[in-house]
Amino acid sequence: MAESAVRIALLFPDLLGTYGDGGNALVLERRLAWRGRAAEIVEVPAGGAVPATADVYLLGGGEDAPQIQAARELGDDGPVHAGVRAGGVLFAVCAGMQIAGHTFPGTDGAPIDGLGLLPCDTVRTDEPRAVGELLALPMATPLGDDDPGIDPALVTELTGFENHGGRTRRHDGAAALAQVEAGVGNGDGTEGVVARVGAGHVVGTYLHGPALARNPGLADQILRWIVGDDLARLTDDDTTALRAERLDAARRGNLDGVAHRTWRDRLLRRN
Ligand code: GLN
Repeated sequence: MAESAVRIALLFPDLLGTYGDGGNALVLERRLAWRGRAAEIVEVPAGGAVPATADVYLLGGGEDAPQIQAARELGDDGPVHAGVRAGGVLFAVCAGMQIAGHTFPGTDGAPIDGLGLLPCDTVRTDEPRAVGELLALPMATPLGDDDPGIDPALVTELTGFENHGGRTRRHDGAAALAQVEAGVGNGDGTEGVVARVGAGHVVGTYLHGPALARNPGLADQILRWIVGDDLARLTDDDTTALRAERLDAARRGNLDGVAHRTWRDRLLRRN
């Protein structure tokens, strides 16, 4: 019997496309194609019909006002909830993660209801905006008796960049995606939230990049939840080189900022 195409729903790229997170859809589609599996990317613009039968739902980062509109359109028991409960995966980045949680701050800081799919709330604090490279070590927290959660053999050190004002508080017992090595993440030393919802999974993260291009292991973790364990290994030489360069940049931290300023000053002097 022919395997059916994996359906990837890219939600509201017109509202939540500020950071290029739509690239996560392409990464999933390519990693399936390289293994001879068909995938279909369904782009859902604001106001469009969200499918209840997608295998993967993707939400990206964006600004506060469009984020509120996206949350309102998705509601507290809509097609994404149904799709995830039936075995789908919601991968939600930054504003997307905040929306997937229970509440997040509106433009005036007052809490707005999210989807309630991730056990967390996002709040505004007086801490400065978190901007820069983010580096974190995945945490293998079981999500239930028969669900080991993130597989550390598949998902290694996570790299990306963050740009957010909100801080995310996990509910008691909620699993984090990773432990922060450099950067801010959720704001309590952890990064991201992972949850089992019905037969499906929800992963929230502050990692932009797009995250699945920088972290192919995380892409494969999502695909494994959808298509099972028989994913052929890919070589990933280019990505390994990109990761080595970005991991190094994150570890050098402030030095990177200095190098950037020096380069900019030189350019300014020339003109
Ligand atoms: N508007 C949210 C914040 O600043 C999310 C930002 C983002 O998606 N990068 O916290």
